[in-house]
Amino acid sequence: MSSGHEKKFKPDQMEYYDRDELVQIDYRRVPEKGWMDEPADIRHGNFIYPANPQKLEYIGFPNARHWSPLEKDWKLPSNWKEIVLQGIRERLDKYRSFKVFMDICVRCGACADKCHFYIGGGDPKNMPVLRAELLRSIYRNDFTTAGKLLGKMVGARPLTIDVIKEWFLYFYQCTECRRCSVFCPYGIDTAEITMMARELLNLLGININWIIQPVADCYRTGNHLGIQPHGLKDTLEFFTEDIEEATGVKVDVPMNKKGADILFVTPSGDFLAEPGIYTCMGYMAIFHELGLNYTWSTYASEGGNFGFFTSADMMKALNSKIYAEAKRLGVKWILGGECGHMWRVLHQYMDTMNGPADFLEVPVSPITGTRFEHARSTKMIHIVEFLADAIKHGKLKLDPTRNDGRRVTFHDSCNPARGMGMLEEPRYVLKNVCNNFFEMPSNTIREQTFCCGGGAGLGTEENMEVRLRGGMPRGNAVRHVQEKHDVNVLAACCAIDRATLTNVCDYWAPGVKVSGISELVANALVMKGEKAREIDFRKEPMRPEELVRPEEPEAAKDPKHAKEAAHV
Ligand code: SF4
Ligand code: SF4
Repeated sequence: MSSGHEKKFKPDQMEYYDRDELVQIDYRRVPEKGWMDEPADIRHGNFIYPANPQKLEYIGFPNARHWSPLEKDWKLPSNWKEIVLQGIRERLDKYRSFKVFMDICVRCGACADKCHFYIGGGDPKNMPVLRAELLRSIYRNDFTTAGKLLGKMVGARPLTIDVIKEWFLYFYQCTECRRCSVFCPYGIDTAEITMMARELLNLLGININWIIQPVADCYRTGNHLGIQPHGLKDTLEFFTEDIEEATGVKVDVPMNKKGADILFVTPSGDFLAEPGIYTCMGYMAIFHELGLNYTWSTYASEGGNFGFFTSADMMKALNSKIYAEAKRLGVKWILGGECGHMWRVLHQYMDTMNGPADFLEVPVSPITGTRFEHARSTKMIHIVEFLADAIKHGKLKLDPTRNDGRRVTFHDSCNPARGMGMLEEPRYVLKNVCNNFFEMPSNTIREQTFCCGGGAGLGTEENMEVRLRGGMPRGNAVRHVQEKHDVNVLAACCAIDRATLTNVCDYWAPGVKVSGISELVANALVMKGEKAREIDFRKEPMRPEELVRPEEPEAAKDPKHAKEAAHV
């Protein structure tokens, strides 16, 4: 950035980036050199700090050391090349999908302009097809006859340290969102290619701290934040006071309760910070009102699974804690909170990783009697499915006028939408608790939803430029409904989304707040014995006429921005 913004702010602050400059992207620029000859440009704002070696050692990952992506020498082990090639060989043998994805791309380009990082930045190496070529070119060179004989002519290139640097930069600029795969005629899943590349980098001790620290903390204490059992209990009890202040109703916090019907597991983002904590209070109020026989666990106190962004083995280890705890407590089934990637882990990997969970029962709602057959293997259902069923059967008394100060749109989180096909349930719930609901443009929602730009472990601050660029397509779509329908709330059922979309909205659609679905349900929920509700869980006035309306954002006054929004 060359504006005055950079004088006052640092690259890890969003104020550093001038929005007018950020949107200047020349998609038609023809690179002067071929992509293989263009080294990775690693600079502040576009990469994430390396993993703390102590944390790597804690989880038994190899080649832990201090190193910096900005230095020439990355202190790789002397046999680094052998390690990587052997790693590729093992994964080709183990994962048939990896071999297929390496072989079948015809480079048709249908995915090329579908990635939010490419749309927001214009870097050709963020085109999904080219991102995959970063790894595929090495596969061709060392594992195919054509590549061995014809080299560069067939898209092959030898493995060098510059390739490793390029992998580090670009495979940590992929949020594993799978939007590109929706458009691929062969169903190539670039997210799985990114997962393989990250596994290979792990072998060299190359990982990022934003992922490894939560993994190590979860491994040790059961959640990404390293919150100890008494800390979790205190936090949830503190929430009961805020719920009582808003509603006059004292809710309970069942903890480690043996013999409960249901184990409830949610991402730690829900009890860490705003706006997740209001979603958490929403769960607690709803469960109390339904009289659910459920329990929290201090051992399985994390629904998110950053192991998923690290390696298949680590994903499996962290997921197993939830099931081990369900067995120990003797529950019938598991209810999961508003998380995103947790559901991809559950729906696509659980069965072959840790399942089937035969010691549990197929989930049956004790409130409605509905049997959730689709979860007969995982024995775990999503809170939004559970709520949709309860509302459908009239089991929650709702007053949607309490949300009338909110003009709401919905962000389909990548994993619940594309990973488990949960498209209708959140909309059904929202339309029952909000009178003012508006969809974003059709090419930005449902299966085609745009990522928040901070998933798959990228939601930190040192890569702020990448996040703002990656969040641009979603931000533009939010601004579109903000300008057209006066939308002031973006609802999402994923903890990472709620955290990262807050930045995205502040930057691209200022004035729009982010909310969980359960928070909006709890606003509308008429609880037995409640007092006249004057404030919500955010301690804001309940009556819509008293809610502060967002100021008209600068962007809305600028016709250039309005045109960009309409383009989404
Ligand atoms: S759409 Fe599929 S086949 Fe076409 S370039 Fe992309 S990954 Fe390859
Ligand atoms: S999975 Fe998502 S982030 Fe990764 S290349 Fe595809 S569209 Fe981009």
